[in-house]
Amino acid sequence: MRLLLIGPPGSGKGTQAVRIGDHFGIAHISSGELLRQHVEQNTPLGRSIQAYLESGDLVPDGIVMDVLRKPVELASRQGGYILDGFPRTVAQAEAAYEVAKELDAWVQVALYLEVPRDELIGRIRARGRASGRSDDTQAVLNHRLEVFDQLTVPLLDYYAKREVLVTVDGSLPVDEVTAAVIDELTRVRPALR
Ligand code: AMP
Repeated sequence: MRLLLIGPPGSGKGTQAVRIGDHFGIAHISSGELLRQHVEQNTPLGRSIQAYLESGDLVPDGIVMDVLRKPVELASRQGGYILDGFPRTVAQAEAAYEVAKELDAWVQVALYLEVPRDELIGRIRARGRASGRSDDTQAVLNHRLEVFDQLTVPLLDYYAKREVLVTVDGSLPVDEVTAAVIDELTRVRPALR
């Protein structure tokens, strides 16, 4: 099963991606986590992308594709994946589609976690206090929400036109969101398993 998860900052996409990956026995691949690891390990790539992460801007497409290529190819051969945080733009989706065509392994479901804006802001403030993530401050959060609206929201239309978009109410309690996603994937797309 090959899934991707789209959601604004604070939508719970990281948490849900881990749970969904575990449930279906597929790899959880987070672009943000892979990029943050480079920064934490102070690799040359990490040093070149640190400023993007701290400001909430998107890392250039070529770098993101390079970081993801191997784990995604590996997971495609081993039962599938849930991609958390990629693609973030229509250009990335198109680039990913070209790679997927070569592997005969394009995305089967794009899950969208929909959460009202005021709820997101409350959640991410709490996360900023708890996580210590440098991109969880208020100014950066506002910027990340703008980036989401401008660059990522057009993806919803892109995947809706390809008839793979499934929208889930992400404002519910965490367990209920997980259950709704699993239910949706099991019921609506049984052939994927
Ligand atoms: P996330 O963990 O998904 O919230 O991502 C954290 C940060 O990593 C984002 O604010 C971006 O700076 C960067 N990032 C993650 N995924 C991507 C992507 N697909 N394209 C560009 N930048 C990304």
